Amino acid sequence: MLDIRTLEDFHHSQNSLNTFKQCPLKFKLKYMDNINFKKDEEGYYENIETGLNFHLLCNRYFIGIDTSMGEDTKDKDKLEGWMKSLKKTIPINKDHTYLSEYTIRMAMDEVRLQANYDLIILKEDTIEIWDFKTESRKPIYRDLEKRMQTIVYMYVLMENLKLLGKTIEFSNLKMIYFNPQYEDQLIQIDYDEFKHEENHKSIKNIIDRIKEYDFQGLFDKSIYEKYCKYCEFERICEDKSGF
Ligand code: SF4
Repeated sequence: MLDIRTLEDFHHSQNSLNTFKQCPLKFKLKYMDNINFKKDEEGYYENIETGLNFHLLCNRYFIGIDTSMGEDTKDKDKLEGWMKSLKKTIPINKDHTYLSEYTIRMAMDEVRLQANYDLIILKEDTIEIWDFKTESRKPIYRDLEKRMQTIVYMYVLMENLKLLGKTIEFSNLKMIYFNPQYEDQLIQIDYDEFKHEENHKSIKNIIDRIKEYDFQGLFDKSIYEKYCKYCEFERICEDKSGF
């Protein structure tokens, strides 16, 4: 086990924080034991591949590279439809700056975070964070607003405006979730100072819990059972009652 808590250069992501929140054993297996397990779910990896290709095409579009695909591209028709929808939703405006596949890392005391953005759009007085989803389920505002991704992405960006050479009001930061299968159902999350403080508290709280957690001690699987059926480690952790 590598105790990442002792590493100076380890930065938490929305994934690592969310994983610990769901189940500390899963966090240990993924981030400390470095075990990668494939999900035992039919069609899961095919869908992931199409989603990754969509993100690749989005990146090409925002950095100004041709987005046409080869004839044998998997799910070509679907991807073309999704790109049409993206271009209609976010037409390029020469007065705006598009930061595609952009990473921000920050370290403030023990809060060391990394956020990988699909897209940041810098407008005159506003900043938009866009995240592209390709799951077949319909996006729901209340789920996305509370999501660790929303908390970390908005918090990190607001704390690092200087990097982008910007000064904006809290209310001028937006996070927008876009799924090309539901193009008329953009989910926009607004921001304010209160949310920012709450986000700081909830991120700090999880980081403190990770810092203090006894990963060698006894583990009560029953507390986390509701996450087991979605967990890729279910097969190896069936009879596990301890670390
Ligand atoms: S199967 Fe359940 S208990 Fe085991 S790591 Fe996954 S979520 Fe945790």
